[in-house]
Amino acid sequence: MGDGMDGQREPEANAEASNGRQRVLAVDLGGTNLRAAVVASDGELTHRRAVSTPSEAGPTAVIEQMALLIADVAAVAALPSGAPVGVTAPGPLNPRTGVVHFTPNLPDWRDVPLRDLLAAASNRPVAIGNDGNCAALGEARFGVGKGFDDLVYLALGTGVGGGVICRGQLIDGAHGLGAELGHVVVALDGPRCSCGAVGCLEAFVGGWAIAREGRLVASTADGAAILKEAGDQPITAGVIAAAAREGDPAATAILLRAGRALGAAMGAFVNIFNPALIVVGGGVAALGELLLHPARAAFPSHCFPASTEHVEIVLSSLGDDTGLYGAAAIALDLHEAAGR
Ligand SMILES: [Zn+2]
Repeated sequence: MGDGMDGQREPEANAEASNGRQRVLAVDLGGTNLRAAVVASDGELTHRRAVSTPSEAGPTAVIEQMALLIADVAAVAALPSGAPVGVTAPGPLNPRTGVVHFTPNLPDWRDVPLRDLLAAASNRPVAIGNDGNCAALGEARFGVGKGFDDLVYLALGTGVGGGVICRGQLIDGAHGLGAELGHVVVALDGPRCSCGAVGCLEAFVGGWAIAREGRLVASTADGAAILKEAGDQPITAGVIAAAAREGDPAATAILLRAGRALGAAMGAFVNIFNPALIVVGGGVAALGELLLHPARAAFPSHCFPASTEHVEIVLSSLGDDTGLYGAAAIALDLHEAAGR
């Protein structure tokens, strides 16, 4: 990041501006890994880097590490000094004020002004966004949702997040806290959720919830034989999926129940937002049709028939890079806003 490189960067900045192709820095802040890449407005992703997140050291150390990673990637990619940074982060945050209120996987993050601290540390304009909302933008701009103005994105991971795009606009509410799609209630007498409420979608289809059902079944006298055989191996959603693929009836029933809950939630989203596309991503989405088949079968009975004819349910096309593409989308928007 030496001053001596500025002279080399300017011609490239001009070249980028003249062909209308912009490159931005994308950062995906996770509890375990901090990932960064350069993403161009045409979707080309390069200069990918990942380091461990120094989570235990607290927000200041994490933000310093992010600034170092940004400087490193920007130098190698010879990015112009004004190229903006987009950061996708977990947990409730306000993209307007740039404050992260809380994040479950990063200790001591309470009302951290991430945007301003990182802008000062990296000397670049910064935009931040909630991971679910960013992922929806990433899919709409670069992924399977390209060309769709109305989509619902569901991130099925350990937790369940999501994002909604209506008429090309992200719907995130008054303070950017909206579209916590994993916490819509699908059963008033359902299981307890990680958020403290009862019967949320996440309490059925989150990775932890599927694993909990597996442990419960395996602990009963007539529990699933295959799950019992897992022995010392921890029962995860993946173990349950493998058992279901081998025909284990209890494992199949667990995923059928999760898929039906997913279908009920999709029905509600279809009624409210009338999307043309529902995109399913996140680690649990790797279970594929084991979840999506029952969800597809269930959702029409939870919404008006007229809207079901025009909605497709598909898997994310960006996979693990959804977050980076989402971060790039908010950085590109920042760039566009600055140019106006
Ligand atoms: Zn919940």
